[in-house]
Order: sequence, then C-alpha cells, then structure tokens
Amino acid sequence: MTTVLDGAAMARELLNELRGRVALLTRRGVRPGLATVLVGENPASRVYVRNKIRACGDIGLHAEVCELAGDITQSQLLEAIQTLNGRTDIHGMIVQLPLPKAIDAQRVLQSIAVEKDVDGFNWANLGSLVDGHERLAPCTPLGVIRMLDQARIPIEGRHAVVIGRSSIVGKPLALMLIARGATVTVCNSKTPDLAAFTRSADILVAAVGRPKLVTADMVKDGAVVIDVGINRLPDGKLAGDVDYESVKTKASAISPVPGGVGPMTVAMLVANTVAAAERLHPA
Ligand code: NAP
Repeated sequence: MTTVLDGAAMARELLNELRGRVALLTRRGVRPGLATVLVGENPASRVYVRNKIRACGDIGLHAEVCELAGDITQSQLLEAIQTLNGRTDIHGMIVQLPLPKAIDAQRVLQSIAVEKDVDGFNWANLGSLVDGHERLAPCTPLGVIRMLDQARIPIEGRHAVVIGRSSIVGKPLALMLIARGATVTVCNSKTPDLAAFTRSADILVAAVGRPKLVTADMVKDGAVVIDVGINRLPDGKLAGDVDYESVKTKASAISPVPGGVGPMTVAMLVANTVAAAERLHPA
C-alpha cells in the first residue's frame, strides 16, 4: 500500500498551527508582514505570487506586492529593496524570480536584509546550514523535510539521494538531510549512470526540471519518493520529475505534482515570515 504524501493537506495543517502564533503576535501589536517584489510581466510568477498572498491572508498576515516595471534599472530595484529593508511593518521580503536578464539577480537577493530574507537565499542564511543551523532556510527544502516529518518518515540512518544540486533546492536539502543523520548522495547532470545511484535510495528526491526523468526501474522497492519538479507540458498540464503512475507501484510513499511539495513551499514561506517577525519582536 503506497502512501500519497498530500502536500496540500499537510500545508493546511501547518498554516493552522501558525495561526495561533500570528494571533499572539497581533495581540502584542505586531502583525507579521510579507512583501513580495515582482518585476515585469511573467504570468507564471503572477500565479506563484497570488498563491503566496492568499496563504498569508488566510491566517492573518499582512501581504503586499511591490510591482515594478520590467525595464527598471538595477539601482532603482536595489533602492526599492532598501526601502522595504527599513520598514518596521515588513518582517519578510522575497524577490520573485526570474528577474529580467539585465538585472544581476544575485546582487539583488544579497541586498535583502538577512533577518528579513524569508526565502533563505542570502549567503549568510545559506551558509549557516553548513553548521546545521536553520535560521531562515530555503522554503522548498524546508517543505520537503516537513513533509517527511509530518508523514513520520525517519531520516536518520537512511540513504537519501537528491537529484539536482541547485543552491535553492538540491544543495540546501542535502545539508538538511545530513544534519538529520542521513547518508546523502547528490546527483547532477554529469552523474554517469544515474539509476545506479537512485536504485540504492531509501529516500529519493528529484529536483531537476525534467518531466518523468525518474522511472519505476530507477526506484528501489519501498523507497520514499519526493518530487520537487514542476514542469509545464505542451498540453498545458503540470508534471513533476517523476513518472508518478509507474513509480507509485514501487514506492512506499510518494508526493504528487501538483499538490505535493508546491503547497508545502508556500506554507514554509509563511512559517519563515512568522519566525522572522517573532525574532524581530521578541516577547
Ligand atoms: P535548476 O537550478 O535548473 O537545477 C536543476 C538541477 O538538476 C541541476 O543541478 C542539474 O545539474 C540537475 N540535472 C539536470 N538534468 C539532469 C539529469 N538528466 N540528471 C541528473 N541531474 C540533472 O533547478 P531548481 O531551481 O533546483 O528546480 C528544480 C525543479 O524544481 C524545477 O522543475 C523547478 O521548477 C522545481 N521547483 C519547485 C519548487 C516547488 O515549490 N515545488 C520550488 C523550486 C523549484 P547541473 O547542476 O549539472 O546542471
């Protein structure tokens, strides 16, 4: 019997848990606030931003979008971020990616105040993961860990294979798994014979961006399979990196796309914003 890891339901549970902390802060006169900087017109970005705003609103956070024209200069964008850094009613800030090509995205991300960096992309926040500290850690890896925890899937002592080594998903997730006592293998596009690695995984995470890259023959019987990938197919439907229907027959637990890691990522962003507000306004 395969467990479907219902990220939408788990995210609702987490948001409900956060509701109480938001109410406590609000009673002390601190309404947690999230600002999302959105540059230019990107329909997919708009959908992501709408989901984040909705999740914040649902549990009483203030959420606002700072919309900026696609032809904004780098210094104007940095100035907008400095303004948000200085606002006392904003406790978390994210810059929706991708940014226009003319903008140095890394420079922009690094200009967000470390204590408001609720996406966890600032090098100071990423770097603390090396030492096992998750102050404001990236939301997608946090969502994967929370999903495993919520489903009571043990991590310690297991072999976790992460496909993908990006700075926002694969690498931070690998560090979080190491911190929890897993033996971790990180694969990338240069890995020869990917299947030889994935077949030995107790926990397999795909964070690549290639529809159906992971097929049933690449998965050990009873493995836990987490699909981070979000791919838009030619027919407009969303698909993960895992061939869900075939892999489901072998996995002991599997996350679907949509409705898996996606909603968990949004919920962790809200969690990071609440945590940032608590740290900025200790009781
Ligand atoms: P990315 O920066 O493009 O990184 C992709 C990684 O996959 C790279 O490390 C790349 O290796 C590796 N890769 C590519 N082809 C491979 C192959 N054939 N075999 C093994 N590894 C391969 O992407 P990302 O930002 O990490 O995102 C990954 C996926 O997760 C995307 O589909 C993205 O949309 C999705 N995502 C979902 C959420 C969510 O909330 N659910 C959040 C963030 C991202 P190299 O480093 O060697 O190039």
